[in-house]
Amino acid sequence: MEDYKITYEILDYDKYNKRLSNIINNPLNKFPVTVHKPIGQSECGFDIEHYSIGNGPMHIVYMAGAHGNEIIGVDYITQLMENIALANGVYKDFDPEQFTLDFIPCQNPEGFFTTTYALNYIMKDMTVEEIEQFSKKYWASYREDDINVTGVNAIINFFCEKFAITQSRSELTKLFWHLSIDREITPQYITSFLSSSTNIDIKAIENLVNEKWTEKLKEKKSISPQKLHHKIFEGLSLECIPETDEKHCKLKETLRKIYSTNKFPIETLANFFANSSGVNLNDNNIYFYNEIKERTSSEGLIYANLRDNNLLKNVPGPVGMPSRSLDEPFEYTPENKALLDFLEQQDKKNENYAFFNIHGTGGLIYLYPVAEDDMEKAHTEVVTRNFSFLINNRLATEYARETGTEYQEKTGTYNPYKTMGYPDKISGVGDLLRKKYISSFILELSKMGGNPIAPYGDRIGNYNITMTSNMRANMKMLKTILAISHLYETSYTMKYDETGRVHYGETARRK
Ligand SMILES: [Zn+2]
Repeated sequence: MEDYKITYEILDYDKYNKRLSNIINNPLNKFPVTVHKPIGQSECGFDIEHYSIGNGPMHIVYMAGAHGNEIIGVDYITQLMENIALANGVYKDFDPEQFTLDFIPCQNPEGFFTTTYALNYIMKDMTVEEIEQFSKKYWASYREDDINVTGVNAIINFFCEKFAITQSRSELTKLFWHLSIDREITPQYITSFLSSSTNIDIKAIENLVNEKWTEKLKEKKSISPQKLHHKIFEGLSLECIPETDEKHCKLKETLRKIYSTNKFPIETLANFFANSSGVNLNDNNIYFYNEIKERTSSEGLIYANLRDNNLLKNVPGPVGMPSRSLDEPFEYTPENKALLDFLEQQDKKNENYAFFNIHGTGGLIYLYPVAEDDMEKAHTEVVTRNFSFLINNRLATEYARETGTEYQEKTGTYNPYKTMGYPDKISGVGDLLRKKYISSFILELSKMGGNPIAPYGDRIGNYNITMTSNMRANMKMLKTILAISHLYETSYTMKYDETGRVHYGETARRK
């Protein structure tokens, strides 16, 4: 008997709504699901929905779908909801008097429905086996696109090393890709680019390029300008979006604007990160806005990385920019305003015990383990410390370990999610929230990479275990919160006196 009910399907607008309505109205639910008023609306009028299970004082917030193309996040969070409501597996021990679990299944409905409408256009009649096969093929294409870019970059790097090129390598690489967007790339093409941009004789470069090409790109004759992970969706058009109501019409119209103003391959509809105004919800923060603005004035065009290095990031588009316009002051999107408001209200009431910002791929959990005060300061003044550091680390560690245990039992290998610390600088809304709130995490789900559908490319080996390991780890996290919840309330003070002795005192953490 399986512990959890796992449904393997690619959601679209109808399936998503049907799934939620089944979950909410299931007569077998042990713990009822409450429907709340939406926390906000997207620009086109799609609701940012909010559900909850339990009535306890400790709130845990789960949110997915900040990036529209990371469809497994929305898939996971709705199935997590369903399995908790049914008291499946470890959730037979769930205590609704202790916890309220808040679910925001899809923060970016415009991006999510764009991606899934496009997928549906190609995949709607596929059987489960065909979905798996097609997703596996997508995974391979996506990977191949990365290999092509890193292969070419390696050739340019190798050339710079051999000829001790003083010009910055990354500059040369950038220039190469800017000039090559619509070009078929061959060893001869790279050779003549390197020769003309450095004035070194073609004859001297030729062998070196050929040698490295064979090492990195094997028997390939050339690299096509069309990305393989786009080619797989050939035949897509905006017609994939039905004009069923006003918000759908608006969505289609805004997308039409994006695709007619800027040169984006239409296949990117199936991998749409941003909202339909072309803003990337995670990049939508003042730090990244300033960075991109500065880079735009010095570099002009800014492209995304690797397999997406033909997609601009500083105009409205599928990858998305950090704010509506770089010529106007920074502005949060309605989706982010709604989220920030929601979390702030909860925090004000001291109800926020953890926040999970769920993304698509990586098999890891980002925590924020920095002490807020510098140890040094305690030598000169009284320092008040709280237990954020400990709570944050402990929850993430227990969570990751428990995923490992599930892998151990199902596959024979202890293969836990990794935990990752803070970045060297804040560049995402996810980072801002991790820094601001006590146990705020970014969870990157699938170990099999390649949004939107690569996570579906191995049903048993990747998809199912992604679902079950996280469901299980989530319960472990709830139990850990119960074990250490007193620390949420307490702070301590410390001060070193002249003799170097430290004095501790206790103080309330929350006012
Ligand atoms: Zn993401």
